[in-house]
Amino acid sequence: MRVPVIASYNNVGNFSSAKRESFSLRQSSYMTQGNDTVSFSHRIPKETSVTFFNITNTLTKEIKAIGAPIYLYNDGSQKALLIAQQVKKSLLDIKSKGLDIPKMKIRFDCWDDIYDNSAAAETSADIYKNRVSNLYVNFNTPLYRNISDSNQLYRSSKDPFETSLEMDLLHEFAHAYQSFNNHAKYTKLKYEKFSEDINKEILDKMGIIATESKAEFVAEYFAHKMVGKEVKSKTLAKLYEECLGPKFN
Ligand SMILES: [Zn+2]
Repeated sequence: MRVPVIASYNNVGNFSSAKRESFSLRQSSYMTQGNDTVSFSHRIPKETSVTFFNITNTLTKEIKAIGAPIYLYNDGSQKALLIAQQVKKSLLDIKSKGLDIPKMKIRFDCWDDIYDNSAAAETSADIYKNRVSNLYVNFNTPLYRNISDSNQLYRSSKDPFETSLEMDLLHEFAHAYQSFNNHAKYTKLKYEKFSEDINKEILDKMGIIATESKAEFVAEYFAHKMVGKEVKSKTLAKLYEECLGPKFN
């Protein structure tokens, strides 16, 4: 079962610069304590750490050039490197499907700001005159404490696929995309649900998160399709279209 991935949509930005600074300080102590969260990064030799630091730095610049800057505490750990690699790969995957990347910031440095702090990730935005001005996708970075044989970060060993950083990132991207391109529609989808019959099918094909609202359905459908686990259902494909889910090439 997936930890709920919550899309919160704030009318007021809650990232003051003072707060941001205190969080980055807290994060740096997290990263050096050698706790469970990043324990695998502490077994690497110093020279490797310097190499990781440099690669991550380069990746961060490349991600910015793709159009969605990433905020990440680069401590030369394997975890920071894997996050940057995954974000770059996913953004390129999305672009290769013919989708535009909305103007957004991807943050791995502010998990204390995340709603109730038990959510894995969230999409939030500042709304001014019914338009999105600042769009953020925020991750609860410490929750990604596992690394698979194929170098994928994931949250729960019970379900490495559904709780992978890749799936969460694609899920949140769909929210960000919808809110950026049609704020009014996205707001509606967040509060609308399908009928019980439809939800039974959604539950069967994708899991409980996708039944929470039409917006969650779109996000899960998008993520599954992106990783090649396409949901085989004409009914659901039609509903995805009706909900204006991001269109694939
Ligand atoms: Zn969601």
